[in-house]
Amino acid sequence: MDDTPDNHSEGRDHAVVLGAGLAGLLTARVLAERFARVTVVERDELSSDGPQFRPGVPQSSHAHVLWERGLEAMERLLPGITGELTEGGAALLDSPRDFLWLSPADWFGPLPGTRVLLASRELTEWTLRRAVLRDRRIRVRTGVAANGLMAGADGRSVAGVTLRGDGPVHAGLVVDATGRTSKTPAWLAALGLPAPAVTRYDSHLGYSSRTYRIPPDPARRWQGMYVQGRPDSPRGGVLIPVDGDRWLVTLIGNGEHAPPTRDPGFLEFARGLRSPALYDAVRDAEPLSEPVGFRGTANEWRHYERLERLPDGLLVAGDAGCRFNPVYGHGMTVAALGAEALREALAGLPADRIPAVSRELQRRTATAASVAWQIATSEDLRYPGTEGPPPDRATRILQHYMSRVMVGANTDAALSAPFFGVLSLTEPPTTLLSPGTVLRVLSKWRLPTAPHAPAYPPHHPEPGRT
Ligand SMILES: Cc1cc2nc3c(=O)[nH]c(=O)nc-3n(C[C@H](O)[C@H](O)[C@H](O)COP(=O)(O)OP(=O)(O)OC[C@H]3O[C@@H](n4cnc5c(N)ncnc54)[C@H](O)[C@@H]3O)c2cc1C
Repeated sequence: MDDTPDNHSEGRDHAVVLGAGLAGLLTARVLAERFARVTVVERDELSSDGPQFRPGVPQSSHAHVLWERGLEAMERLLPGITGELTEGGAALLDSPRDFLWLSPADWFGPLPGTRVLLASRELTEWTLRRAVLRDRRIRVRTGVAANGLMAGADGRSVAGVTLRGDGPVHAGLVVDATGRTSKTPAWLAALGLPAPAVTRYDSHLGYSSRTYRIPPDPARRWQGMYVQGRPDSPRGGVLIPVDGDRWLVTLIGNGEHAPPTRDPGFLEFARGLRSPALYDAVRDAEPLSEPVGFRGTANEWRHYERLERLPDGLLVAGDAGCRFNPVYGHGMTVAALGAEALREALAGLPADRIPAVSRELQRRTATAASVAWQIATSEDLRYPGTEGPPPDRATRILQHYMSRVMVGANTDAALSAPFFGVLSLTEPPTTLLSPGTVLRVLSKWRLPTAPHAPAYPPHHPEPGRT
C-alpha cells in the first residue's frame, strides 16, 4: 500500500476520504471517476499481505453476512470482485436453501430466497482494498488520524482536514467515512456549525463470537445456520463458514440475555437457544480463538441530509451517517448502495461543481439507508426493552403483517422469494403488498406466529437420525 505523505494535495481536483473501511473504499472508487486524485486517510496501519484484524474495525470479529444486493452493487463498482472474493475463500450460498434458518415462527424450508456472501469481514475488506487501490488515482495514507475540518475562506465551505501529528490536507471534497466513532458533529461545532439531529433506537443487543475448526462431515447438508431469537426468547446464534477453513459462531442476546465472553458460558449459552442445532454443530469442535464481545449495536441516524447549514465540500458516508443494529446484516449493503447512489448523483458533474452541491449529494445518498432503517427499527421495536421513539400505528400494523409474512415464507415459495427479496434490499417493501402476496398472506392468517418449533428442520434431521 502506498502511504507516502502527500501534504501538497491542494485544490478542487483532489478529494479526501477519511477511513478505509468498506464505505470509505467504495466512496474513493466512485470519486476517482470525477477527481484527478483521491487520498484515503486511515488511522490504522493496513496490512498489505493478506486479511488481518485491525483495531479500527472491532466488529470484524463477528459474523458478517453480505446480502446479494450489496454484492451486486460492489460488482458494478468493482467488476470481477465477486470472483476475487470467492477465490479468496468467501462462500456464496443460497439462503435459506443452504443456510438453515429458524425464524421467530419456524424453520425455513429449502425454498427460494436470495444469495448471501459469507466471509470474514477482514477478507471482504482486504479484497476490496486491493481492487480499489489498483486505481493509481487513489492513494492511502495509513497510521494517521483525522482530527478536524478546515474551514474554507468563504466561511461556509470545508477546504480540507487536519491530521493528528501531521500537516493539513487540502481538498475540494472531504468525505467522512470513519464509521460509528465519527467525530463530525464535534468538528462542525468547532467551526461554529450545528450538529445534525439524531434518531436512535437501542434494543441493547450484545454479541459474542469465536472461531472453530469443525471436522468435515459428508452427511452434513447445511453450509451455515441461524437460530434466531424472538421477544419471548431473546437469544440467538449464527454459524457461518469463513475463508474456507474456519467457522465463526456469533451468539447474540438482548439486555440481560447478552451472551458471555468466557468459557464455559459461551457453549452453555449456545445450548440454551431455541434449537440445539448450533450447539450440536460446535460442541465437539476445536475452538481456534477466545470469545470476543461487542456492545453498542444501536440504530443511529445522524441526519446530515436535513442540515440546512451543512458546509459545501463535506459529505458523510456509511456508518458515520447511519448505522443499524447489525443483526439484520445491512451495513455493508447500505455502504455499497450509498456509493452507487453517489456515483449516479455525480454523473456528468465536473469536479469543480461537486463541492457546491454536496448538500444535495448528502440527501440523495441518505435514501440508500431508508429501507434498512425501517426494517431494523420496526423489528427492534418488537423487543420491550428497546429505547427510542415508540412505534406509531403504521409500524404496529406493519409488525403484525410481517409476522404473518414470516410464517408463510417458512413453507411457501411464493412468499419466501418476495420476503427474501425485501430483506436483502433487492425488492422494495411494496413487493410484499402486491394483491397476490396479500391474498396469500391472508390465507395463512390463522397460523400461530410464535409456535414451538421442532429442534431440527425436516430437511436436516437430527444428527444420527436419517
Ligand atoms: C457486531 C457487528 C456485526 C455486523 N454485522 C454485519 C453484517 O452481518 N452484515 C453487514 O452488512 N454489516 C454488518 N455490520 C456493519 C458493518 O460492519 C458496517 O456497516 C460496514 O462495515 C460499513 O462500515 P464503514 O466503512 O462505514 O465503517 P468502518 O468499517 O467501521 O470503518 C471506519 C474506518 O475509519 C477509520 N477511522 C476511524 N476514525 C478515524 C480517523 N479519525 N481518521 C482516520 N481514520 C479513522 C477506522 O480505523 C476504520 O478503518 C456489523 C457491525 C457490527 C458492529
